[in-house]
Amino acid sequence: MKENSVKDILNKAEEKHSLDKEEIITLLQSGGDELIRAADGVRKKYAGDGIYIRALIEFSNYCTRTCYYCGLRAENNNVQRYRMSPDEIVNTAYAAIDKGLRTIVLQSGEDCAFVMDELCRIVERIKKKDAAVTLSIGEKTYKEYKSLKSAGADRYLLRIETTNKELYQKYHPKMSFENRLRCLEDLRTLGYEVGTGSLIGLEGQTAEMIAEDILFFKKIDADMIGLGVFIPHPDTPLGCTAAGNFDLALNAVAVTRLLLPDINIPATTAMETLRPNGRLLVLSAGANVVMLNAVENSEQKKDYSIYPDKAGVNEGLEESLAALKNSLAKIGREIIVSKGFRYNNRGE
Ligand code: SF4
Repeated sequence: MKENSVKDILNKAEEKHSLDKEEIITLLQSGGDELIRAADGVRKKYAGDGIYIRALIEFSNYCTRTCYYCGLRAENNNVQRYRMSPDEIVNTAYAAIDKGLRTIVLQSGEDCAFVMDELCRIVERIKKKDAAVTLSIGEKTYKEYKSLKSAGADRYLLRIETTNKELYQKYHPKMSFENRLRCLEDLRTLGYEVGTGSLIGLEGQTAEMIAEDILFFKKIDADMIGLGVFIPHPDTPLGCTAAGNFDLALNAVAVTRLLLPDINIPATTAMETLRPNGRLLVLSAGANVVMLNAVENSEQKKDYSIYPDKAGVNEGLEESLAALKNSLAKIGREIIVSKGFRYNNRGE
């Protein structure tokens, strides 16, 4: 592909925020620095220079699922399982809100021990404070999503991981691709801000599949897109496969920003884990959100091992905030205190 072709595609993307599959593939494979610069410019124009911080509370690492790439899969007996109590969860959220964070992300494996009523009470208690609540607790029924929304939840994260049905079924045994899509539709119908995303670097995944993922994000007009990069966990069936390609994932972030100019895009922890300063590179390629772990118990943080050697597990929230402020200064960005809804970016 000639250099000016990339330039032409970037001009079109900057102007129309729309590309076809072949054009996306070209950018994913040969976008280079020009792609990163274009995405950074679009981020600045539509989402501003501020960085939204989310306080992440990984409140249970029990999971009934067996996703092949994940260290929390039910069949992994080498992980120390934990479950925070409702009071611990709420108190951790309050401590983060007191430190100035305005979004609490409650994340867990698909843990049946938390009944819906209990989850709703937790959301209600957190919502008594001035904060948005994001949930990332997996596939639920329409009725359950509705109850959580009525309790005050604002956003929901459910990564599709891959929109290629065959690949999805390969890595998610006994799960249904159609049900995943149904969940995303239900969340949209119920008025959540909807977050989804992909895992980049799964064996068998092609640039064409990633391009299709990005077109899917555009089609459903997702409000948040998290792109992780695959890191093999030794206690999973994929333990011996190679990690995903950092630069390909970085390009995928940049193309996503070009096509969905005003959404929220986190610089995922996986990117920081795979490459030193990975987070700053992603923030310079279109991302505008950082999730910081608000749990102070470092053993629990280590035990939430979706993938190994996760960055930042030994830092407390205050330490992480201070380190982030310092590193953001290097790229001329700063944290803004805000609930950080997508519509904040639109100036509404
Ligand atoms: S990816 Fe999520 S649903 Fe799958 S095993 Fe891990 S925690 Fe469970």
